[in-house]
Amino acid sequence: MQIKKLIPALALSLTTFYCLGQDVNKLIQQNDVERIIKTLASDDMQGRATFTPGIEKAAQFIEGQFKQIGLQPFPGDDSFRQNFKMTRLKALKTLVSINGKIIPADSAYVDSKAPAINWSNNADVKVVKLSAGMNFRDEYISYKRSGKNMLILVDPQFTAIFNKIKDVAGKGTIVTKTDDNGSLVFVLGNYDNLKSFDVSYTSKTEDLTLFNVAGVIPGKTKPDEYVIFSAHYDHLGILKPVQGDSIANGADDDASGTTAVIELAKYFKTLNNNARTLVFVTFTAEEIGEFGSQHFATTVDPAKVIAMFNIEMIGKKSKFGKNAAFITGFERSDFGPILQKNLEGSPYKFHPDPYPEQDLFYRSDNASLARVGVPAHTISTDEIDIDKLYHTVKDEVSTLDIGNITSMIKALAISSKSIVAGIDTPTRIPKLEK
Ligand SMILES: [Zn+2]
Repeated sequence: MQIKKLIPALALSLTTFYCLGQDVNKLIQQNDVERIIKTLASDDMQGRATFTPGIEKAAQFIEGQFKQIGLQPFPGDDSFRQNFKMTRLKALKTLVSINGKIIPADSAYVDSKAPAINWSNNADVKVVKLSAGMNFRDEYISYKRSGKNMLILVDPQFTAIFNKIKDVAGKGTIVTKTDDNGSLVFVLGNYDNLKSFDVSYTSKTEDLTLFNVAGVIPGKTKPDEYVIFSAHYDHLGILKPVQGDSIANGADDDASGTTAVIELAKYFKTLNNNARTLVFVTFTAEEIGEFGSQHFATTVDPAKVIAMFNIEMIGKKSKFGKNAAFITGFERSDFGPILQKNLEGSPYKFHPDPYPEQDLFYRSDNASLARVGVPAHTISTDEIDIDKLYHTVKDEVSTLDIGNITSMIKALAISSKSIVAGIDTPTRIPKLEK
């Protein structure tokens, strides 16, 4: 290269480098972060519980932001809203007879995805005893895993836990689809001499609509390679009142992550130089079973997804202090080291998850994509082992450090740089067979 050409080139590259640092501070502003999180976590949104008017309001707000930013709908969708359906089953009538005698209604409950059950000494129904001294929880899990239809005779030793689970079951179950297999019928009492049984159960089924909100910035040179930025926008809704407050605002969990997704969309749209397609998605129904991300995983070819940045609870400074977060499942791919490399020279630092015993990798929406092989990780700052506000009505904006959220959004913007630019591709995560 000739010398007179070298100087402008050098000047240009220095400018680019300088701008990258400056862009983050210029484009990601604390007052905007505050505006978004205050809206999402306001009492007006009633804690954003799935299937409530509160989450509808939150979805409309996010759609409005995506529109203003100039995102496009996710490929295959005609709007930002990604609708899907689930079914709620609620017991109408449960009648169980043992040895020809009807047992009292409060001594039986059904855990089932079937709209109705009619058993009469069926040979394919396995009858088991949950005897005194066994571990209720472990046995329950093994029944569930078996996928078999079972009649379970529960020793009266377990009356307290039986009643608790019966109460929860009474609120109904939400399923992706109904299933006549794997029904569990629990009966409380001593039945040493079981000769015959009859179960007659009917439920009320109701179709419910749920929605993720997703928008994209198409990639300039690698449009078929997706990088996902996600968070869940649902929360717990209304809980038992504590000092007159019953709204679980979910400011940290996960209005903070949702705010990050919106801010990052705005940031990358302004830069508008992403090689890969960037997908910004806020999931519904995380708190009741990660249903939103599970649905999303069925709408995308996992092979196209290069990486997923799932953001959960970045509202308080981390165990590692200010300007630091952790990455779940750090050892499962080289996603973490790539982010760390991009953060070198910045004020920010990402660490491996310091709470491996909490199994956080499988406790958020990243798991829905990780199961199908995507390097999908959650980034968080929460001190989950000592966080007393977690899942309480006290998770409010006033308890958060908006500066921390703003720094973490900047850190996410910088740490994702080489992946967004199509330079780095994290290693895949082994698929989970199910
Ligand atoms: Zn959460």
